Amino acid sequence: MRAFDSIVANLRRIERVTRPVDPETTEALARRWEELPNHVKTASQTLGRMAVGCEGTHGVFPRCNFVCTPCYHSRDANRVRVDGAHTVAEVERQMTLARNVRGPHAHAQLIGGEVSLLDPDSHAAALASMRRHGREPMSFSHGDFDYEYLEKVALGRDGKRRFTRLSFAGHFDTLMTGRRGLRRAESEEDLNPYRLQFCDMFRRLRRDHRVRYFLAHNMTVTPANVAAIPQVVRDAHAMGFGMMSFQPAAFVGDHRRWKEDYGRLGADEVWAKIEEGAGSRLPYDLFQTGDVRCNRTAVGYYLGKRWFPVLDPEDRRDMANRDAFYRYLGGVHWGAPLPLLAMRLARVLAAHPHLLATAAGWIGRRIRKAGGVTSVIRAIWNGDFIPMTFVMHRFIHADHVAPAWELMQRGEVSNDPAVAEAQERLQACFYAMAHPETGELVPACVQHAVLDPAENAQLAQLLPMPSRRPRVSAPTDEADVPQVPPVAEPAPLDAGL
Ligand code: SF4
Repeated sequence: MRAFDSIVANLRRIERVTRPVDPETTEALARRWEELPNHVKTASQTLGRMAVGCEGTHGVFPRCNFVCTPCYHSRDANRVRVDGAHTVAEVERQMTLARNVRGPHAHAQLIGGEVSLLDPDSHAAALASMRRHGREPMSFSHGDFDYEYLEKVALGRDGKRRFTRLSFAGHFDTLMTGRRGLRRAESEEDLNPYRLQFCDMFRRLRRDHRVRYFLAHNMTVTPANVAAIPQVVRDAHAMGFGMMSFQPAAFVGDHRRWKEDYGRLGADEVWAKIEEGAGSRLPYDLFQTGDVRCNRTAVGYYLGKRWFPVLDPEDRRDMANRDAFYRYLGGVHWGAPLPLLAMRLARVLAAHPHLLATAAGWIGRRIRKAGGVTSVIRAIWNGDFIPMTFVMHRFIHADHVAPAWELMQRGEVSNDPAVAEAQERLQACFYAMAHPETGELVPACVQHAVLDPAENAQLAQLLPMPSRRPRVSAPTDEADVPQVPPVAEPAPLDAGL
């Protein structure tokens, strides 16, 4: 009898873990959809259908050793010492709350400050904590670190792999100052060797230690560098990045770093430049992430020099495929171990066998659009098949966020159109930061525009910088920035390219 009970218990457990969507995820998605304002409950909305949103850390390592104009961090950020123990403890607290509120799976950014100022063990411990809470972490960096640092993050002191996969976002643009070997880039093109060197480190890590990777390329956009976007896309799309993300600058963060009129930059203008670089229209209405005034996303792939969307917005069959994807596969945890994922997908197919024909039709149309089977096979064989998602994320100006948030706390709507727009966008926010002290997840715009100044001032007390000799001259932007390590030329590109 006991043996029978144990078999039944095991079967129940197998049934539970192979369910296509974790019941907790289903609940978290339903809650998320319920919370969304009506104006974003569109057929293409991903929030509440296949994702709960993206999360980011805050106050875990605010310091950076670059000077960017603009910088979204408050002026005290660089007065906070980087302290690995603090980072790991805070990440753990924030991810615990995110897990409780947003359910078992989400993408989360390990973001500060500059992540590579963390010692490798603390960096790895923070990533491990995020993973333990079901988060798929991505480390945000200016990319100016050495292979040895990356290797130490990926491997324990015993030389064994700590991770089978790492995700990093590398920030490269001419608005940054401080890169070793190129303190200030004159043109976006000057940064190409550094972009490539960044990707090469991960190729080498995969070759030497079988650690897979996903890389995003981040670029802040202002009137000064918007014209350079097409060339950046053309130059960088085949370097190793799987995502190219553009952030039109907003008046937020350290006002001493606001050097241009960021209000002049329109979303359509920036998107048109990205399209020019991709040589294709980038349909951002297929998958909506929150509010389109905040985010635009185009999911697709390069075959050779040409970019294709995963779905054709003009084709009704593709639109039906998108709806079927949300309906039958929304909430599936694609990051699950492969055998488990396969069993979950098999259960979906067993329950809805018509999806096989749906998938075959979709693949057939993709192949035809790409010029036929031979073209596709040739491109894959030559390494010319490159999955690539284009993203634009526009923060809201701080002087709109602050009143918008204050009114939202009181349940009021502003009469000022700009503030009312900010309220609508904040309600539909895709990118949140967890506050264990209040139990809230707040939009990253609110974090940077409203909460960061006090938080960083407190952290500067808690984690003060080692005392320095008194300055003779008045402080400047650059004087606030910690010394970069001795300037060195970039290491030679990896021979294993
Ligand atoms: S962080 Fe701000 S800009 Fe980004 S999605 Fe949220 S409200 Fe929109």
